[in-house]
Amino acid sequence: MNMVFKKFPAAALINGEWITSSKTFLVNDPATGGEVATVPDLGAMDATRAIDAAACALPAWSANTAKERAVILRRWFNLVTAETESLARLMTTEQGKPLAEARAEVAYSAAFIEWFGEEGKRAYGRTIPTTVASRRYLTIKQPIGPCAAITPWNFPIAMITRKVAPALAAGCTIVVKPAEETPLCALAIGKLGLDAGLPAGVLNIVTTKDAPSVGKVFCDDQRVRKLSFTGSTQVGKILYRQCVGTVKKLTLELGGNAPLLVFDDADLDQAVAGAMACKYRNAGQTCVSANRILVQSGIYDRFTRALVAAVKKLKVGPGLEAGVTIGPLITSDAIAKVEKLVDDAVKKGAMVLTGGRRDDAGPLFYQPSVLGGVTSDMEIVREEIFGPVAALLRFDTEADAIRLANGTPLGLAAYLFSQNLSRAWGVAEKLDAGMVGVNEAIFSSEVVPFGGVKESGIGREGAAEGLDEYLQIKYICLGAIE
Ligand code: ADP
Repeated sequence: MNMVFKKFPAAALINGEWITSSKTFLVNDPATGGEVATVPDLGAMDATRAIDAAACALPAWSANTAKERAVILRRWFNLVTAETESLARLMTTEQGKPLAEARAEVAYSAAFIEWFGEEGKRAYGRTIPTTVASRRYLTIKQPIGPCAAITPWNFPIAMITRKVAPALAAGCTIVVKPAEETPLCALAIGKLGLDAGLPAGVLNIVTTKDAPSVGKVFCDDQRVRKLSFTGSTQVGKILYRQCVGTVKKLTLELGGNAPLLVFDDADLDQAVAGAMACKYRNAGQTCVSANRILVQSGIYDRFTRALVAAVKKLKVGPGLEAGVTIGPLITSDAIAKVEKLVDDAVKKGAMVLTGGRRDDAGPLFYQPSVLGGVTSDMEIVREEIFGPVAALLRFDTEADAIRLANGTPLGLAAYLFSQNLSRAWGVAEKLDAGMVGVNEAIFSSEVVPFGGVKESGIGREGAAEGLDEYLQIKYICLGAIE
């Protein structure tokens, strides 16, 4: 079998077996354009086979105690942690993020496995005081059934473990379709899952270039009781529609258009550090990246100067190179989109304060950039940038800031910087967002509920809420009690 880095398979995983195919697709290194591996390009029939395997494995897996499942998840966590360096190198090679960020993602990914293994033991039901003397009421939580997951390329391991770990901890089985740009990370994590003792069929991974066909099978198959998707709002809406026929439970973690508000009373250093962390991490390719940086007039010039100075210190290059902080974008479409948004903004009057063009490091590298004087008529404030470009807008009053921040159909993350506790709390309550960072811009963790409001999604991942996504409630009434 085709192996990557000598230890990770470049084959799909169905029913505990590594599947190859005469039809394959290429995985490229976005930093160099080089070929990393070829993986099987599976289709609708293979997706159904994977669901067969998940359905077959369900009774035995769900009959285990949560503690028995946790033992395997713990072993998986240990194996992932022990392989941090090789997984991080694989991730940087196929996805492009700087190695330090890849290492951090491996730790974050492993944390979901560890935490949900434990949390599975706490899937408590309730006893409810009766309304009829001869009856007793109680609820239990049971695994929802075979599940499916469709994941993106920007966090190629974490977006998988954030779904798979709670599913398996809850007693469900699952079929994953990873993004076509980053299948190798998915297969590597699957291999470590098998090594940890996951029985055949509990975790299946279908690699494909034909996401619509495989996605359609997941939605149409009535045995799949839950679909969890992370990706664009556009594809999320397609899947939502497709799941009507089988009334599947859905978790949708879709696009964001995060505002980052800097008030006059902010601590300048905190605000700049926050903007840097959440704008330029992963070259701006995260759904919680600050898409619009709204800065109050009194601090606008000072904030802008400090931000530009910090951005000029970023180092562009291949993620495996020491000291690099900005890697390549994922595809030529991605860089073309960033270019188009910057051109539109500049045409409408925005000023390029630094960057503003492609970088010489290679075809997929874009310079870390800051645009000043951005206004609401520019496409860059409506579209998810997904690139290393900060768009700065000026505002005067708190009411203006809230109106601007909420003026989008999306509502994933929002951030605000202010040293005034009363303002910070009041504004945090008024923002239409599933998550708000107050004087903090990196807030994700396995112990908190991640997710959006409005068109940014449905459901939460991480925390006890993330386990509930894979459980269903059964109410049991005991009658004829004397
Ligand atoms: P991005 O723009 O970040 O790539 P997408 O929503 O296009 O976001 O992709 C996220 C995931 O959704 C990927 O795994 C991709 O293959 C998958 N995908 C894309 N189109 C469809 C579709 N029509 N049905 C099911 N999955 C899809």
